[in-house]
Amino acid sequence: MIDTFQERYENRHEYAKQWKDKTGGKVLGYFCTYVPEEICIAAGVLPVRILGSHEPQDVTEPHIFAMYCPFCRDCLAQGLEGKYDYLDGISIAQSCLHIRQAYTSWELHVPTDWSYYLPMPHHVQSPRAVPYLLAEYEKFKKALEDWTGNKITDDDLKRGIETVNKDRQLMKQVYELRKREDPPLSGLESMYMVVSSQLIDKGEHARIVEDSLKELEDRTLGRPVGQRLIILGSENDDHEFIKMVESCGSTFVIDDHCTGTRYFWDQVSLNGEDPLTAIAKRYVNRVPCPTKDWPVRTRVPHIVSLAKDWDASGAVILQQKFCDPHELDIPAIKSALEEEGLATLFLELDVTVPIGQFKTRVEAFLEILDEEDLF
Ligand code: SF4
Repeated sequence: MIDTFQERYENRHEYAKQWKDKTGGKVLGYFCTYVPEEICIAAGVLPVRILGSHEPQDVTEPHIFAMYCPFCRDCLAQGLEGKYDYLDGISIAQSCLHIRQAYTSWELHVPTDWSYYLPMPHHVQSPRAVPYLLAEYEKFKKALEDWTGNKITDDDLKRGIETVNKDRQLMKQVYELRKREDPPLSGLESMYMVVSSQLIDKGEHARIVEDSLKELEDRTLGRPVGQRLIILGSENDDHEFIKMVESCGSTFVIDDHCTGTRYFWDQVSLNGEDPLTAIAKRYVNRVPCPTKDWPVRTRVPHIVSLAKDWDASGAVILQQKFCDPHELDIPAIKSALEEEGLATLFLELDVTVPIGQFKTRVEAFLEILDEEDLF
């Protein structure tokens, strides 16, 4: 059952096309995890996160600077190459300038019937963030209604919330199992689980997670766990890289990525509130992307407590090349983790990863951790 996540991830385009044929619904490609999937689902839309392919490309140069992060350029390349030609619309909630540029270029150069830019506040720590976002959600809801022809009622919104919350809560249960001395699934399998949630029908995803939980009860990796690692930083669905690190005598037991915990960690709590307000509160208060983590840096203690709770002995800190938001956070995260006794390894990701070079650095890092264990 756990293999299903990888299959869905690898066949994401076929899946979305089949979903359209089966349901007659619209598919919305989204660029950032700040887009409120709950409202899209309430409108009967399938939200699908736009991701790169990790393959070299030469189509984005006229549209986006080469010093924009490789993830953004890779995403845009997918649109320019027609890989997402089945999308009925695209959307973004403001996060960083690079991904916004990918969205804008897509809007200009890839034939798209519908697009929606959702202004998501950067200053989420301001008391005005929730009322501001609520007003924006009212407009987003109305735009979705006009686009789909479906009126979105409060009951629809509640259904959207319950659907996404259930999937989040089940994935968190899987993450709890990763605290075990012998975790029942690898970091790679976890990544496939979370990323596939961004690509397929949420109800279906939750059912697969539920079945996987039964499978995971008595499962072990069938290999030594090795060093327990936390992986953190920018977007990361670089399966080759994760596989390589885990093949060198380690296991990723926890993460802080927007293709990992940052995506699903926080629930919408209704508490008798109107559903749109509850959704706005969730996105304002969620574990933040570094673009929104100021003036108080809340990510740093959060990451340290994840590392401690999941008993990690080392941290692999990844950054997409040219990603300023993450780069600015790294010194603070690195020193906080090192103060807690965790060794850190910093690596910079590009569209493709020099697996051989990185392997040498990862092996040296793991050797240091193994030596520390001896004393
Ligand atoms: S990796 Fe950094 S620059 Fe790229 S989309 Fe994410 S936050 Fe923006």
